[in-house]
Amino acid sequence: MARYPKAAWIPSSAENYRQGRTQPVTELVIHTTEGSNVEALHTWLTAPSEPDLSVHFAVDQVGNVYQYVDTDDTAYHARSHNSFSVGIEHVGYAGDPSTWTSEMVEASAELAAWINTQHPGIVLDEAHVVAHGSFQDDRTDPGPYFPWSNSLTRARGYRSGNFVASIFGGGRSSVVVVVVAALAIAMLWSK
Ligand SMILES: [Zn+2]
Repeated sequence: MARYPKAAWIPSSAENYRQGRTQPVTELVIHTTEGSNVEALHTWLTAPSEPDLSVHFAVDQVGNVYQYVDTDDTAYHARSHNSFSVGIEHVGYAGDPSTWTSEMVEASAELAAWINTQHPGIVLDEAHVVAHGSFQDDRTDPGPYFPWSNSLTRARGYRSGNFVASIFGGGRSSVVVVVVAALAIAMLWSK
């Protein structure tokens, strides 16, 4: 049973997904919900839907993570890729750069690192972590503003527990850490 310890467990209707897997799990599909209301998302995913729709995870703009389907089960979020993928929805819009708050990006990267511990076939690179729109003609998510490089660098940092890798993933805090470290070294030298 693969459930993320940091996620709120909000089980999907059993009618909306398939138990188990028929293929090795090798892909993480990145989505946007094209909506801004996480409560509506919960309602939609927990009620029986027609056609069957489901997804493993959602991350909201303040970094809360929700899980609806065990990653050992097959969710219906990516049509031809369902049987070998795990899906993460991000609450927001593919066409809106403000969707990608730092809290959301951080929580999503940490989640991706955990998924890799459960499904090592999902390597944390651009061959295995993919846009929904990259393979499904009628979808464009997560759109042009999803920070691929930063997200993957951060996910790998979480996975390795490598603090240096994660701080150099970007952000103002990494600059502060480097400056403080440089000042400390300079003070030691001046003694
Ligand atoms: Zn999608």
